[in-house]
Amino acid sequence: MVHGASPDPGDQPLPKLVVLGSGWGATALIKELEPGGYATTVISPENYFLFTPLLPEATVGSVESRSLMENMRKICRRARARFVEAEAYDIHVDDKMVEVVSRSGEHFLVPYDKLVVAVGAGNASLGVPGVGEHTRYLKTIRDAKRIRSDIMNLFETAALPTTPPDDKKRLLSFVVAGGGPTGIEFAAELYDFLNDDLIHYFPELINDYVSVTIIQSGDHILNTFSEAVSEYAERSMKANKMQIVTNARVTEVTADTLTYKLKNPQPGQDPVVTIPSGLCLWSTGIAMRDITRKLNARLHDQEHLRALQVNSRLQLLGKCKDQIYAIGDCATIETPKLTEWVRDRFAASGKTAFNRQEFGAIVQSLIDEYPSSRTYYEKLDTLFEKYDADQSGTLDLQEILTMSRALGQRMTSLPATAQVATQQGQYLARKLNRLADASVDQHSKLETASEKPFKYNHMGSLSYVGGNAAVADVYGFSGGGLGAYVLWKSVYFSEQVSARTRALLAFDWIKHIIFGRDISRY
Ligand SMILES: Cc1cc2nc3c(=O)[nH]c(=O)nc-3n(C[C@H](O)[C@H](O)[C@H](O)COP(=O)(O)OP(=O)(O)OC[C@H]3O[C@@H](n4cnc5c(N)ncnc54)[C@H](O)[C@@H]3O)c2cc1C
Repeated sequence: MVHGASPDPGDQPLPKLVVLGSGWGATALIKELEPGGYATTVISPENYFLFTPLLPEATVGSVESRSLMENMRKICRRARARFVEAEAYDIHVDDKMVEVVSRSGEHFLVPYDKLVVAVGAGNASLGVPGVGEHTRYLKTIRDAKRIRSDIMNLFETAALPTTPPDDKKRLLSFVVAGGGPTGIEFAAELYDFLNDDLIHYFPELINDYVSVTIIQSGDHILNTFSEAVSEYAERSMKANKMQIVTNARVTEVTADTLTYKLKNPQPGQDPVVTIPSGLCLWSTGIAMRDITRKLNARLHDQEHLRALQVNSRLQLLGKCKDQIYAIGDCATIETPKLTEWVRDRFAASGKTAFNRQEFGAIVQSLIDEYPSSRTYYEKLDTLFEKYDADQSGTLDLQEILTMSRALGQRMTSLPATAQVATQQGQYLARKLNRLADASVDQHSKLETASEKPFKYNHMGSLSYVGGNAAVADVYGFSGGGLGAYVLWKSVYFSEQVSARTRALLAFDWIKHIIFGRDISRY
């Protein structure tokens, strides 16, 4: 039942800004927002920010859970924002109200003039039977704690004198479904835990019974990295006795087994393989949260099945464009509709063909509106020559449409990463700061007239692969090893949201170097 409007910051004559979420996008926004411009309310079911990139370390105790969390009330205080620990249940777009449900199940409404949806995404089970019941996800601090406890549980059970060898083998079969950064970093941390710590207490189990298998549907693990880096990671992990199965799709998970199907089996090889599984980490991508799905269904202009579509100014496509923004994993920026864009340009100019200079000007206006398309138009002269089929020195409508279709197929959305969410949160905060002096009715006009579109600046990719080695694709450097490991640690250390978490992290790392990881089960 919906109760009457309750926590309402609108007593002040300031525009009401409501932010949903306390993750990377929301936190970056709140940290950058100038106090006093809006009556800001942050709503999230978790009253803390979580540093997700180090969650795999928390699964084996390389860092403690609390070292990855910073309280959201503390972060909100600087921006003079109110924090409400509750979950957005629905968004009543016509009334500009968020329906919120508290932990105790009480529903209430929070009004907004501007709403930022930064609720992240859930886990994709891909409809594979048994995933919900028999696998672990790694998304929250509770997931990390549960996995840490599971690992010790499996070892203690396998070590019982009554456990037969076949059961030991099954219990200590660790399977990772998904060869992206989360799956790989979990496998890497597990490898370190086994070889640095558990080996001293369970040498026989580690040597005779433990296996770690990574199942990846693509050709390579870490396939968002460069090929050289993926190959380095594969070599390094295989050398560490981890099994990597590529081009395989998991088809079923049970309490004891995992079944996968090979895409290209060798002649005579059975394409369907079943392996024992004591613990399976499921890390195969992201899916919409309920709140995102509900909002998507209300807005007819939304065509995307996995995220809220926004324009390049991060405004939600559709009738709520002027009030609602979406950032981070729950959002995707529409890719330019190149063919429509081209037709409009031809219609507006009244021309039948464009020369090289005119074509350059059209491309520049496209890049101004969709900065992420810049990379596709870098070699403009080459493109011009390639698609000037009749060698006339001009491109006519058909020639430009052919080029646009080819480029359109290659354009991809931004990855679901903390880097993207952070930059979007910062971009939006700076924009909201600039708009704060104008009345809300004028925001829309000002945004289109004077605000630049969001431009993503990729800083590089890093992943830990175990045994004090990491891989990196950073500013032209692609490779792996100890140097990349030092870089990986330094980046995460410097990216901490507060001096407190930085100090805790440093303490955890020193503690684990001196004393090893704690293997107590609790
Ligand atoms: C294990 C792991 C490792 C990762 N490593 C990296 C990495 O190394 N580098 C990198 O760039 N990215 C990494 N990522 C990805 C990165 O964490 C995400 O891309 C990032 O968290 C997205 O930020 P966000 O703000 O969109 O969502 P999130 O950070 O997920 O935050 C979403 C917030 O919304 C809240 N919420 C959920 N539902 C509701 C609701 N109904 N109402 C209100 N609030 C709600 C949640 O509680 C949460 O606070 C990793 C992710 C994981 C899981």
